[in-house]
Amino acid sequence: MPKVDRQLVVYDFDWSMADQDTDRWIFEVLAPDLRRNMKKLKDKIQWTDLVAQTLRDAHKRGITREQIEHALRIMPFHPAMERAVKHLQAAGNTTFLCLSNSNSVFISTILEAKNLQNLFKEIITNPAEWDESGLLKLRRKIDLDGPQHSCTVGCNPNMCKGEELEAFLNRHAPRYNRIIYVGDGTNDFCPVLRLRSQDIVLCRNHRGLQKRIVKEGGLQCQVKYWGGAWEVEEIFSSL
Ligand SMILES: [Mg+2]
Ligand SMILES: [Zn+2]
Repeated sequence: MPKVDRQLVVYDFDWSMADQDTDRWIFEVLAPDLRRNMKKLKDKIQWTDLVAQTLRDAHKRGITREQIEHALRIMPFHPAMERAVKHLQAAGNTTFLCLSNSNSVFISTILEAKNLQNLFKEIITNPAEWDESGLLKLRRKIDLDGPQHSCTVGCNPNMCKGEELEAFLNRHAPRYNRIIYVGDGTNDFCPVLRLRSQDIVLCRNHRGLQKRIVKEGGLQCQVKYWGGAWEVEEIFSSL
């Protein structure tokens, strides 16, 4: 096997790096009725718009920035995942990229709580910021008024992770010897389809990505399945 001196590890965030879904979790913790409302509206309103709207509803009823940050800090995050990435980072030849449909504030709040704020070279996600009143203002990564992605693999409106990964690779030439993609969701299928035979997808069991891999096929990369973060740690240490 050729020496891998330039390796890229790409992480989806919800249910991949973290053991929960940020957008849903904060409302399950702080306002279950708003969480229920999201379930009712999710087929009618684009997801990022729906989260932004629900954040405004939460703000109107007095839910604070501190409460949301606390909910994020206590969100399930497996200690083995933390160990796995810290060990790999310490080994030195790996670049980390985060590709997530969550948002910049949710992700950075959790990474800081785990002392992982310097892990990723880039975090490609929906932009968010706190305003002075404590409202978290969230926008789509791809503005609805501008050009949309042109992907035909079946990516949802807003982000195509496949196009985002290609753009990252073009920004950071030369090409990596090996890409490892850790993901679980249906929208992780498009970037994984673009991986090469020397690349590996670490696909979480029983979720949307696995279903698409089994049903649609067409992958050139190697596939390794995992359930718990300890298995990702095991795979990383065997590389
Ligand atoms: Mg996910
Ligand atoms: Zn796509």
